[in-house]
Amino acid sequence: MKVSEYTIEEMRSLLKNMSGMYDVARVVDPIECRILEFDSDGKITMNKSCYGIWNAGQKCMNCSSALACKTGCHQEKAEHFQDQVYHIQSNPVTLKLPDGDSYEAVVELVNIKEKEPEDLKANDRDAENLDHKAAEYKAVHDTLTKVLTAEAFYEFSREQFVKNPDMAWVMITGNIMDFRLVNTLFGVMRGNEVLMKTASLLEKIAEDCGGLCGRMGGDRFALLIPKELYKEEDLLDTANSLAEEFNSGIYTFRIHFGVYEINESSIPVSVMCGRANTALRTIREDLMRTVAVFDEKMQMKSLFDQEVVSGFDEALKTGQFRMYLQPLVDENGKYLGGEALVRWQRPDGSIIMPGDFIETLENAGRIHELDMYIWECAVRQLSEWDNTDKKDLTISVNVSAKDFYSIDIYEYICELTDRYHVDTGKLRLEITETALLKEPEQSNTIVKKLRDRGFLVEIDDFGKGHSSLTLLKEIHADILKIDMSLVEQIEKDRDRIILESVIRMGKSLGMDVVTEGIETKQQLESLCAMGCSRFQGYYFSRPITVEEFETRYKENN
Ligand code: C2E
Ligand code: MG
Ligand code: MG
Repeated sequence: MKVSEYTIEEMRSLLKNMSGMYDVARVVDPIECRILEFDSDGKITMNKSCYGIWNAGQKCMNCSSALACKTGCHQEKAEHFQDQVYHIQSNPVTLKLPDGDSYEAVVELVNIKEKEPEDLKANDRDAENLDHKAAEYKAVHDTLTKVLTAEAFYEFSREQFVKNPDMAWVMITGNIMDFRLVNTLFGVMRGNEVLMKTASLLEKIAEDCGGLCGRMGGDRFALLIPKELYKEEDLLDTANSLAEEFNSGIYTFRIHFGVYEINESSIPVSVMCGRANTALRTIREDLMRTVAVFDEKMQMKSLFDQEVVSGFDEALKTGQFRMYLQPLVDENGKYLGGEALVRWQRPDGSIIMPGDFIETLENAGRIHELDMYIWECAVRQLSEWDNTDKKDLTISVNVSAKDFYSIDIYEYICELTDRYHVDTGKLRLEITETALLKEPEQSNTIVKKLRDRGFLVEIDDFGKGHSSLTLLKEIHADILKIDMSLVEQIEKDRDRIILESVIRMGKSLGMDVVTEGIETKQQLESLCAMGCSRFQGYYFSRPITVEEFETRYKENN
């Protein structure tokens, strides 16, 4: 069920209307058990405990609002306190905070009336339930790891902020990399062992400085630590001793931490954890870094990423993604084809470059939709060029590593070239060396199938990664596309020697060699002297629209 979204301004006016109709109309955070107040500038403050009005002192983690928040559904309940009955309606809502974060809360609408005789019976029943509730409330510790549950972590963190209003804190989240693998490789028992050990080391850090430790679900943990006692070394030491204990020949243990230095304790604890997670995500795939600290830039990036993902469907539907072509040329500058490079042209005319959204779409599991769209643009273009003077031009398209998991690349590309009656030899598929190396066996099978069908496969960005030579041994491709990082300093002796060897090696392995990122005449001349004869780069042309490409083709060839 979709929960209604409100901006703070909308919520303020909703509350104003409701307060005329109910005895109490308020917004609560049922996890932290607090009433929320809103400033006119949209800032949220955590106010008094919300259970105070009817059963003071009885915290009820399974009150109707907690249930509403968990289930996303409207709940109703009657609470009895002294001589009154409180009829409570709990409506889950999502608040959109001014800085883009979302916050799950509950609008409580309460009517209060005097107790009637039947209500007294209900009161007895509720008293019986109370023991049961109290027992449930005790369940604030995660059964497996014995650290706090996520809900308890949120609530107790809030209590700390209230008790120590002048103290500075850091919120830390931790996540084990590829934890699924532990269960798959060694079984659930070993997986549990890893979680328990991780939790106990993290809890030790928290305990030593009067902080809190919680398990937020799965392999995700959180720590609340007084800022003056926080030491990055503690996290690094924990990561190291866990790695020492759990590393094996086939599994490398890694844990990443995100750190948010809390500068406003009035924001929800879930949002604080979200910020620590934003920092963590920036190093999630990074093997060299263990700890990342949240900063404003990350917040901006995370906001922008949200916009990319939320605007993607509409953009795809309304043709905002445009295929640009960067000419592929020979040593005389003659056009042989082009590389399809996507540009996101927004309705306001601004253009977003692929570097700003490709990775986000990859992480959101949506990149294959964009790639399929661009591949179709390319194949359609090739079919339009058929029977014209441009019939011999080729187009190279980029294939993301994630496409291998999401779609049957071979099936789809064959279907496209069949549908548009395009010669398979005119479509070239660029796959980066990192993508190919992730699953060398699987990639080799697909690459072989594609080549057998007549498509040309290019290894893109060769030399950018770390394992280029292994790749050449494993993957049989048609074209080696040398990354611009190898060309940048061509005037240096060592760079020149490496480049020359790579070109020779590619050719000896039977591949055509293309160099990208040619920006100067001198680079071009050096590369020609080294035996390279296919180029792409700003020296010849930047990526341009198809119309411009066609005009320049006429002038050029
Ligand atoms: P790439 O496939 O390696 O594409 C080459 C990039 O280098 C392009 O950046 C191009 O504009 C840039 N470039 C070309 N010549 C020069 C030069 O002389 N100097 C410099 N400094 N740069 C040059 P662009 O268009 O921003 O694309 C960046 C990357 O985004 C591409 O790298 C590719 O990995 C990815 N990409 C672009 N379009 C798509 C797409 O449709 N699907 C997927 N999956 N990835 C795409
Ligand atoms: Mg490319
Ligand atoms: Mg490239």
